[in-house]
Amino acid sequence: MSSNVDLKELENKIIESFSIEEIYRHVKFLVEIGERLTGTKEMEKAAKYIKSVLKAYGLEPRIDEFYVYTSFPGISEFKIIQPEQLVVESFPNLHCYSTAPEGIEGELEYVGSGSEDEFKKKDVKGKIILAELSYSPPRPEKAKIAEKYGAKALVLMNWGPSDKSIVGRGAIKWVWGNPTPESWKLMPKIPSINISRAAGERLKEMLGKKGVKAWLRVENIKSWVKAKQPIAEIVGNSEPDMFVLVNGHLDAWGKTATCNSSGNALMLELARCFIECKEFLRRGIVFAFWDGHEIAEAAGSTWYVDNFWEKLREGCVAYLNIDSPGLKGATRFVAYASPETWSFLKKIEGETGINIEKHIPLKTGDNSVLGIGIPYISTYATYTQEELEKTLNYASLGWWYHSDEDTLDKIDGELLEEHFKIYVKCIVGLCCSLIIPFEFVTVANYIARELEELEKISKGKVKFNMLLEKVKEYRDVAEELNAVTAKIEEMYTNGKEENKTRVEEAAKLVNKCILRNSRILTSAFRSTVDPYDQEPYGLSILEKPIPRLYAIIKEIVGASGGEKIRLLETKLTREKNKLIDALNDAIDFTWLTMDNLKLKYNLST
Ligand SMILES: [Zn+2]
Repeated sequence: MSSNVDLKELENKIIESFSIEEIYRHVKFLVEIGERLTGTKEMEKAAKYIKSVLKAYGLEPRIDEFYVYTSFPGISEFKIIQPEQLVVESFPNLHCYSTAPEGIEGELEYVGSGSEDEFKKKDVKGKIILAELSYSPPRPEKAKIAEKYGAKALVLMNWGPSDKSIVGRGAIKWVWGNPTPESWKLMPKIPSINISRAAGERLKEMLGKKGVKAWLRVENIKSWVKAKQPIAEIVGNSEPDMFVLVNGHLDAWGKTATCNSSGNALMLELARCFIECKEFLRRGIVFAFWDGHEIAEAAGSTWYVDNFWEKLREGCVAYLNIDSPGLKGATRFVAYASPETWSFLKKIEGETGINIEKHIPLKTGDNSVLGIGIPYISTYATYTQEELEKTLNYASLGWWYHSDEDTLDKIDGELLEEHFKIYVKCIVGLCCSLIIPFEFVTVANYIARELEELEKISKGKVKFNMLLEKVKEYRDVAEELNAVTAKIEEMYTNGKEENKTRVEEAAKLVNKCILRNSRILTSAFRSTVDPYDQEPYGLSILEKPIPRLYAIIKEIVGASGGEKIRLLETKLTREKNKLIDALNDAIDFTWLTMDNLKLKYNLST
């Protein structure tokens, strides 16, 4: 059993042992390898390095190997042919359709961020589209929309300051992870390239006048290759099936310093520090270095979810994603985090003095666990809203993102230490506390707010009275669960020594209940697919209130009446039933747990 240790002391001990020298040793090695695309010898070298370091630290790592569908750059040529001749440097957007060797030409049209609303405003059919790289919608969704509206090709201009002439790299595969026979049909069917910010600005200026014509030729290679994914596990002492999944991508574009060598080094440093105090871990830690992240679009983490589904569903306490920590000049910490983790993060904010802006997790980064319903936390420092809007053209991950400019000097070592502190506190809280520090009153309130917002969006056409009543009932249960948690903790701290084992057994029941609540509610209220499946990359509807209701409500508002409304109402009723069913499952499971606690441990509040 784990020792009864003061968690504050443990955290401080780990934070004190942080070694910036170790971090830079790893980052230098990984940056030296350079660009590491899935299926290349560079990626293999990086995977072997991670394995050797983990082994030297005393873990027992392995490298998982499996096939992923990926793409490699071939040829990319782009020029303006009217009103003047201008050759523009470019890079293929991987997974895109290759053109014939003679290329294609067409009128150039600018669509801003490339959202569906922007496409609707313009006649894009048969044209070559110029759009901005930003995260809403993300790169693959822009391509999907361009395809839908009949565009001939998609040209993406980089983010970052307007004078930067670097060409960023990326992919436009919409399908998350390896495709299935069904999703295979959704693979990109449009030629696409990237150009620099400076070139894009020049083209936008040219478009002020009429009649800009462009020509492009693009070729890339698509193939199934073996991914090589290092992973290591420290097993917990009192709940050995439960673990926190600390993860980040190892395959990387360009010089790789901030995306994601700094993250890889941070994970190694966490592994070094936590193996030293493994006797204090009630629950374990899995360290996973994903392959197939950048081009195969989260194929490595998806493979892991598919192949270790039951292990994750039953025992994964939280998914801590580490990507691009320590961006030079960044000052604003953001967290994409499930609402049940918010009060826990708030406590960490209080202790570190670091303010963390909280957002709902989306289908970006490596979030392959949204459907399965695992609490997600990904936090990093980015730039202020003002910087992003005024000078950076929304380059939230640095203007050097995915390029050869992503060099060592872009890493801020002190900022990396701040990231380390936050993650240490996360891991200690999640792995060493008697009870997993999540709570669901916040979740109930969040759901209620979203339902009320949806009612407003529906302009009075839809009411959620029954669903709101059910949410209220759930909130009462969640409050009861908080009270029981507090009581168990109190009994553990102040109770008799001979009762401790009994109290620990009670806490384990509560922990199972906490995980079950996350599974049920995240699947239903934040995801739009079943727990075994994956949404497409970055699906922008996931930013909206209760995504599975949002799209239907928007259609109801837009419909002029008659038959269309009847069809949509039936669909809406069925989706509402899914949500009511989920709330009932969460309510029943939680009451059963509390009844069990009363019977076995006399723990009524
Ligand atoms: Zn990254």
